[in-house]
Amino acid sequence: MISDRQLFLRHLAQTSDHPMMLEIERAAGIYLFDIQGNKYIDLISGINVSNVGHLHQKVVLAIEEQLKHYMHLMVYGEFIQSPQVSYARLLTEHLPEKLSSVYFTNSGTEATEGAMKLAKRVTGRTEFISFFKSYHGHTQGALSVMGDEYWKQAYRPLLPDTRLLPFNDFKAIELITEDTAAVIIEPIQAEAGVILPQAGYLSKIRGRCDDMGVLLIFDEIQTGMGRTGTLFFFEQQGVVPDILLLAKSFGGGLPLGAFISSHQNMTALTHDPVLGHLTTFGGNALCCASGKAAMEVLLKYDLMAEIKGKQEIFNHWLKHKRIKQFRVAGLLMALEFYDERFNKEVIKKCIENGLIVDWFLFAPECMRIAPPLTITQEEINIACKILLRSIETVSNQG
Ligand code: PMP
Repeated sequence: MISDRQLFLRHLAQTSDHPMMLEIERAAGIYLFDIQGNKYIDLISGINVSNVGHLHQKVVLAIEEQLKHYMHLMVYGEFIQSPQVSYARLLTEHLPEKLSSVYFTNSGTEATEGAMKLAKRVTGRTEFISFFKSYHGHTQGALSVMGDEYWKQAYRPLLPDTRLLPFNDFKAIELITEDTAAVIIEPIQAEAGVILPQAGYLSKIRGRCDDMGVLLIFDEIQTGMGRTGTLFFFEQQGVVPDILLLAKSFGGGLPLGAFISSHQNMTALTHDPVLGHLTTFGGNALCCASGKAAMEVLLKYDLMAEIKGKQEIFNHWLKHKRIKQFRVAGLLMALEFYDERFNKEVIKKCIENGLIVDWFLFAPECMRIAPPLTITQEEINIACKILLRSIETVSNQG
């Protein structure tokens, strides 16, 4: 009999020579169970997706309830679909006035595409400014503003009129000019290995964008939905973007993204041409029901309030001579080692020991730690002990 493992390699397009190849049979809360019956702690939430854990009962119930009504009815923007309406309402109740209009997409990269198109329409300009080591997705518009040439070079030509600035460089902000349509930035650079903005940096960019009539796009696809201790990271900075991007945990485990702006900006998509951005499945009813239920879980159980305490437990444990730096933003964390090889060995060992961790695209020497926000203090203790044991074993191997 041919195993699923063989069929996976034969029939699923591969994107690397060394996929993780875990065959998970079931997931619940922070745990994954493979077909051999091994249990793993998911310390990366499927890359920042399962913020309320896997198969949260309230999310499952909301999906089941929606299934009694309909799945797909019509392409985006035509019918009044109550899961879309009620999620957009809940979301905008928790956002500033100028972020009152939600365009639902299928994914994060499509949210980036939509935001870039919107910025062109609103400003009548074409230049985009982004940052070294920024990640906004893998479609060609998003790739054009990605901050690392290695991932882009094989796909050129990409969009013209893009410019990269060094993150946290105050002086470079002057390169934002009246030619710029938008600045797109992750307020915390996630794939760069959790790089936080220096005090005053984002507000300086905000000021320059205002002076030059440039739209400011915050990509909170990893930092949004409670991950850093507030619903959105920008709340901690007192800086409001013109366009906000959400995805990943935004769908509660189902595929959903959004670009969010003012009602006035969004009207640009309604004319010349009409249907300025179009998607068949964006805002799918099940995905909206799921995302809204996950957001309600965040709010109801005030998971954000517990994050600081949980972060401190990680801080307390994760000390070792092989660790160069530990960067944290709530439960978005990067454990930096002195070299990539060591990191990858430790990751392998962790997985063998039942702990799912990973590396970052632009920081292969850093270990990604981003557990479901529902993780308990006791579970953090257990996870950290496994992690330290794995570091110790690899250290002893020389
Ligand atoms: N922006 C950021 C900050 C991301 O981390 C990602 C995904 N890693 C994306 C955009 C793209 O999202 P998706 O994979 O859903 O297209």
